[in-house]
Amino acid sequence: MPTYRAPVEDTLYLLRDVLGYERFGNLPGFEDAGLDTVEAILSEAGKLCEEVLAPLNRSGDQEGCVRHADGSVTTPKGFKEAFRAFTEGGWLGLSANPEYGGQGLPHTLACVCNEFSSAANMAFSMYPGLTAGAIAALNEHGSAEQKALYLPRMIEGRWTGTMNLTEPHCGTDLGLLKTKASPQPDGSYRITGTKIFISAGENDLAENIVHLVLARIDGAPEGVKGISLFVVPKFIVDADGNPGARNGVVCGSIEHKMGIHANSTCVMNYDGATGWLVGEANKGLKAMFVMMNEARLGVAIQGLAQSEVAYQNAVAYARDRLQGRALSGTKAPDKPADPIIVHPDVRRTLLTIRSFNEAARALVLWTALQGDVSHRSADEKTRIAADDMMGLMTPVLKGVLTDRGFDNAVAAQQMFGGHGYIAEWGMEQFVRDARIAMIYEGANGIQALDLVGRKLSANGGRAVMAFFKEVGGFLKENAADAGMAPFVAPLKQASDDLQKATMWFMTNAMAKPDNAGAGSTDYMHLFGLVALGFMWGKMAKASLSALDANPGDHFHSAKLMTGRFFMERVLPETSLRLTRIATGADTMMAMPAEMF
Ligand SMILES: Cc1cc2nc3c(=O)[nH]c(=O)nc-3n(C[C@H](O)[C@H](O)[C@H](O)COP(=O)(O)OP(=O)(O)OC[C@H]3O[C@@H](n4cnc5c(N)ncnc54)[C@H](O)[C@@H]3O)c2cc1C
Repeated sequence: MPTYRAPVEDTLYLLRDVLGYERFGNLPGFEDAGLDTVEAILSEAGKLCEEVLAPLNRSGDQEGCVRHADGSVTTPKGFKEAFRAFTEGGWLGLSANPEYGGQGLPHTLACVCNEFSSAANMAFSMYPGLTAGAIAALNEHGSAEQKALYLPRMIEGRWTGTMNLTEPHCGTDLGLLKTKASPQPDGSYRITGTKIFISAGENDLAENIVHLVLARIDGAPEGVKGISLFVVPKFIVDADGNPGARNGVVCGSIEHKMGIHANSTCVMNYDGATGWLVGEANKGLKAMFVMMNEARLGVAIQGLAQSEVAYQNAVAYARDRLQGRALSGTKAPDKPADPIIVHPDVRRTLLTIRSFNEAARALVLWTALQGDVSHRSADEKTRIAADDMMGLMTPVLKGVLTDRGFDNAVAAQQMFGGHGYIAEWGMEQFVRDARIAMIYEGANGIQALDLVGRKLSANGGRAVMAFFKEVGGFLKENAADAGMAPFVAPLKQASDDLQKATMWFMTNAMAKPDNAGAGSTDYMHLFGLVALGFMWGKMAKASLSALDANPGDHFHSAKLMTGRFFMERVLPETSLRLTRIATGADTMMAMPAEMF
């Protein structure tokens, strides 16, 4: 049976020593969340995830969700009680708007809790996760009446939320969507169409379900310019929020899928369901992007979370499993064999995962702090700069953390040999669960295209130039520090590779867009590696200074060893990525489709 311990200490180190959390103390919501409070919040969150959510992970996977003849869905045993514990603890509304009952705390803290809950039980965490995304979209684009009606009940967890984009014939290319919205004399709309793959679309956790649905108003333009966003509750509510008549939206079936069995993935049939427009007509995709951006960061965190829980269990197994003797001579003479953690290849695997996890956690928090600044700073220029960075990093985090998160779950499974393939050990569930994060919220190939096609050139390249400036400033600041040399030199090399790749696109992709498409995934990973390397530079600096004060401290010594491994063994992949990018599209585009 796998176990999980929330990385509270590592998170506090990152916030306190690496990312200068206290510098943000003057932002709204941060005043009430000093480091002592943060520690108390994270410890409580960790406890809930370890004690309530993690024990339901395997049983939830085995049991799955059940759809009944009337379209209702039952979640696995224990989920209702766990959801109640989660919502009564105020976790759903941690960073939500206080005007509607939220606690208004930094969104960064909600991201930390998301990591813990996704690692403990990814399928469960999607129910509150989607609700939080719907809350964010309604908070930003809903009318005053919609906010007053929906937000307090969703923040309380009495109602859950969903996101309805995908249709049978379109997922990536939403311009093709067919779901119709017909205006009614009372200002509402009748929504008709079929949505597929809707996470948490039907469940028994809440009194009502608030569906956010993309649809095309009768006569609206074709393509993405004719898409609007609607709120469609499962039960139509009166002005006081009392659920009344059943609306015309029903779960037609639930998917039988590879992983996240405990999350209901539903076909949702809209048959003249009553809905109300959210925001402006034909601007629905923009409004839905609030939810999608929040969800993309959430999905990136799922990649990290599966990598972390898989690592923790692989380490425990590697310390315990006795096979063979160390190449350098016996390490456990009193035992029939040495534990496999003595073998260099096992260590290579474990350190590859660990060095990713710690940097990825830092990068999530660094980006989440930018998100808080972009929403909360009083200074417009600061808000814009932070928003630029959020926009740039969102596809990088989503694509890189989920690709590597899955690879790491597989690598951790490998540590168990044949036992990793056997369900009882739980490792194959981490692999199955991690896989979906590479696909939903925009498949990772699409994230790479978003980065190369949109984010790089946005506002004349302002965001990417700001990123290079920040990394360049760090390298300069630490160039003369001998202790930092093992971090500065490789980061400089990797950053040069990224700049060369960026230049290559500027020179070769404008006139020939296939060159951008052919190199986009490599570029996204190259970018991610540099960003992770930058985080290792920051962590090394913090830990070197902590070791000056307290030589021999194990936490900081381990940090430096892990960071050096990343710099020596993982970061050099940037040169391979650059080489691939510079070969362009010609070879891959030369082969006619029928020859594949
Ligand atoms: C378990 C699960 C839960 C989900 N939850 C939700 C949910 O809650 N709400 C919701 O609305 N949807 C949800 N989805 C749908 C999910 O977001 C889509 O499946 C995903 O966006 C991909 O769309 P698609 O399946 O139609 O693939 P397609 O769009 O058909 O893409 C197929 C492949 O082609 C590639 N591709 C497509 N276009 C391009 C291009 N222009 N350039 C390069 N490559 C391209 C893609 O990267 C992909 O690899 C869920 C899906 C699953 C499986």
